[in-house]
Amino acid sequence: MTLASQLSCAFAGTDARLRRQVVYWAITVGLYAVCVLLLAFQVRVGVADPDVVSMLVTILVAGTLPFYVPVRMSRRLALSPSLLAMAQAVFAIGCIVAAYAAIGPARASTLAILVVVLVFCAFALTPRQSHAMSALAVALLGATMVAMNRLQPDRYPASQELVNFVIAASMLAAVTFLTGRLSLLRDKLKAQHAELAQALARIQEMATRDDLTLLTNRRHMNELLAYEKERHDRKGRALSIALLDIDWFKRVNDAHGHAAGDNVLRDFAQQALGAVRATDVLARWGGEEFLLMLPDTEPQAAAMVLERMRARIAAHAFSTGESPLRISFSGGLTSARKGETIAAMIARSDAALYAAKAGGRDRIVSE
Ligand code: GH3
Ligand code: MG
Ligand code: MG
Repeated sequence: MTLASQLSCAFAGTDARLRRQVVYWAITVGLYAVCVLLLAFQVRVGVADPDVVSMLVTILVAGTLPFYVPVRMSRRLALSPSLLAMAQAVFAIGCIVAAYAAIGPARASTLAILVVVLVFCAFALTPRQSHAMSALAVALLGATMVAMNRLQPDRYPASQELVNFVIAASMLAAVTFLTGRLSLLRDKLKAQHAELAQALARIQEMATRDDLTLLTNRRHMNELLAYEKERHDRKGRALSIALLDIDWFKRVNDAHGHAAGDNVLRDFAQQALGAVRATDVLARWGGEEFLLMLPDTEPQAAAMVLERMRARIAAHAFSTGESPLRISFSGGLTSARKGETIAAMIARSDAALYAAKAGGRDRIVSE
């Protein structure tokens, strides 16, 4: 990390939302610095009261710089970002309107700064809060104009104040309308983004899950196998796999119908999953055949898992809509050998499964 990025992290944090808030604060400080220069210039050319201006500058500095602390620590202090933004906006509107009253002949220039503050509001606040800030600015400005006209009619003639007020009010109304539209667009984009993220999650789910049983599908299991085999070859981690095949499943379909067969497959998947550990992965390999992958598992431990599964399936009453059904499965268990292909490992498991079937079914054979 460079020194510049270290300083930037210390100043604005690493969270994107927080960084954005700190940047808004920094831009506001820059804007106020311009206001202070403008006020100083007005004092220098003798059109603004030095006492009033120095009081205003003191309020501006004392009110803006310390805002950094609650903004920077908003997460830790659990301060709502919109509450902070509202507080900053109210303070800014108050200061700008006060500057309008203090600045004399160049006062119309402060109106442009007011517009900038309301554009900021559009980024940080909801449309309703933004509208409230606009209304507050127009009301405060109008009241100040009337008050200044009463106090110093020569410096603040009614005709001039009326022109300024109409310009300010229409600019604020236009900005509020436009930023409101922007905010609608932003909400629409956000909603579209969420929809896309949901669709992507669904596509990912569909690409990795089997429709009927909701188990991992064959394609995804091939990826997981490749990953685990790589770990086995490189780091010597144990890896066992087993092919499982439901016994006499054709008879289930023949006796109870294909739909009942589907239900039995779903139920089988849930029962089998209940017998394995969270780190094991069970996939539907095809038809009524499943592949169980047991990472970091020696053959003896894998055999125990499969025996537990066999007992669980044997004890379970599968529902077919008629009388409860008992089923069994056969399994071919094997462990990975260093350097061999995944296909060779699966072929050995398949041979063990074949032996289990030939040996009378409802059993696990290890190769
Ligand atoms: P074995 O003990 O030798 O495995 O006998 P089996 O009857 O289970 O074996 P076989 O391979 O002859 O039959 C498998 C049956 O599984 C045939 C097929 O109709 C059925 N099957 C495959 N996929 C599905 C499925 O998605 N739903 C249903 N209901 N049946 C399926
Ligand atoms: Mg079968
Ligand atoms: Mg089969």
